[in-house]
Amino acid sequence: MKLVVQVKLLPTPEQAAAMEATLHAANRAANLVAKIAFERRCFRNFDLRRHTYDRIKAEYALAAQAAQHVIKKVCDAYRTLHAGLAAGNLGKPGSPRRARIEARPISFRPLAAQPYDDRCLSWQHDARTVSIWTSAGRLKGVAFTGSAQQLALLAAHRRGESDLICRDGMWFLHATVEVADAPATRPDGFLGVDLGIANIATTSTGTRHSGKALNAVRHRNRELRRRLQAKQTRSAKRLLKRRRKEARFAAHVNHIIAKSIVTEAERTGRGIALEDLQGIRERVRLRKPQRVTLHSWSFHQLGAFVGYKAARSGVAVIHVDPSYTSQQCSHCGHVDKNNRTSQETFACTSCGFAEHADVNAARNIASRGAAGWAVSHAA
Ligand SMILES: [Zn+2]
Repeated sequence: MKLVVQVKLLPTPEQAAAMEATLHAANRAANLVAKIAFERRCFRNFDLRRHTYDRIKAEYALAAQAAQHVIKKVCDAYRTLHAGLAAGNLGKPGSPRRARIEARPISFRPLAAQPYDDRCLSWQHDARTVSIWTSAGRLKGVAFTGSAQQLALLAAHRRGESDLICRDGMWFLHATVEVADAPATRPDGFLGVDLGIANIATTSTGTRHSGKALNAVRHRNRELRRRLQAKQTRSAKRLLKRRRKEARFAAHVNHIIAKSIVTEAERTGRGIALEDLQGIRERVRLRKPQRVTLHSWSFHQLGAFVGYKAARSGVAVIHVDPSYTSQQCSHCGHVDKNNRTSQETFACTSCGFAEHADVNAARNIASRGAAGWAVSHAA
């Protein structure tokens, strides 16, 4: 399984200036390559290299590897764009938005991320430094920092390319690590997980992960956005920064929740049953329309974190159809809208079973997980 580990670089002012100049040069080169690709309708790496390699190497003082990475970056960006167009994500054919996108070449921000391979970036794990190619020559001894866990992962499993990233004046490397999946053990029952707004995640054993702190941050930021909307330009940067901070906080919360869920499943020998998130947009929309975009990506992220942490621990994960999990009695199976007496309480109109509404839903998800697993492993 491939994971991305982010480490923060701690460059001296001189080192930072050299990296900044390098990103500027690489992205000016990328813009030229993108323009040539667009004019010639030439999007394949091999062909494009013939038209651009020598020129960008000379004009932008790029090393051979850097020039190749620039060309590859442009090809990848066009491939993503063309796939997006084909999938209809960027508007219908002929729509103004799509026409605008199709009318000009892709462009790169001056500080857009740049990929590095082992020939232009090397890691000294003991010294916690990297040596990195820049347009001002090779920088040695650029310090980096990360959590103990990240550093251990990197030292043992880093493979392939890393991206050099500058964000809000800070420098990062996104490194790829490859870790082997632990063999999935045969689960002894399933831990069901219900996702929601008030409680981000509730397990069938009754653990509730509150969304209170996260929702408070989101609410504050939404208010701020509303107030600053008038003063567009000056506040745009501030808002972007806030939004990134909010996303980082949400990711942090999701990591903690995912870890707790996987640890509990591992400790009790269970598998994990998650809602299939295909329907999450519809389901959340029923509650409050403006929250859809805010939360659906966050639920997908939580699912992804649970997925890779579980794979690393050898815990089985199964996705189940979540329809009616909130209306169904986890004790007798009776489905009735009136079973859900309030946001928090579930009381079965047939058998009288009562439970916290989210815990009841999580128990339904757990039993659907067990049933689904039995079916898919019957052979
Ligand atoms: Zn019942």
